[in-house]
Amino acid sequence: MSDLRESVITQTRPLPQPGLDNVEFYEAAKRGELRFQRCSDCGAWRHYPRPACPECQSRNFSWELASGRGRVFTWAIVHGPTLPAFRDELPYNVVDVLLDEGVHFQSQVLDCPPDEIYAEMPVEAVFVPASEDITLVKFRRR
Ligand SMILES: [Zn+2]
Repeated sequence: MSDLRESVITQTRPLPQPGLDNVEFYEAAKRGELRFQRCSDCGAWRHYPRPACPECQSRNFSWELASGRGRVFTWAIVHGPTLPAFRDELPYNVVDVLLDEGVHFQSQVLDCPPDEIYAEMPVEAVFVPASEDITLVKFRRR
């Protein structure tokens, strides 16, 4: 049993498993849309998805289309160790993008060597199908 689990964990890329709060996020991403929750009472955008507004605690919200545009807020370069499934990607970046809507989003900038990333670098969302059900939101320079 543990051998099987280790094999699955180390040989395949882990993918998000949408739940009650974020299934709409992944359904939108599959359509090529970046959508975030937005409070219907105070207008605050939020991400990660959650039941209540962190600004006013309202539970009223809608899933609004975001611009997909933002700037690199901060980042890290992963040199390892990492899961074997990601070994061929080393070194790779992990970025925190501050989107124009004011929410932070952790992802990756594609086709960008580690020494070319900088704070405030303008980026835009791209949609990368990772399986039949999951499309990942990543970024590219703009
Ligand atoms: Zn609110």
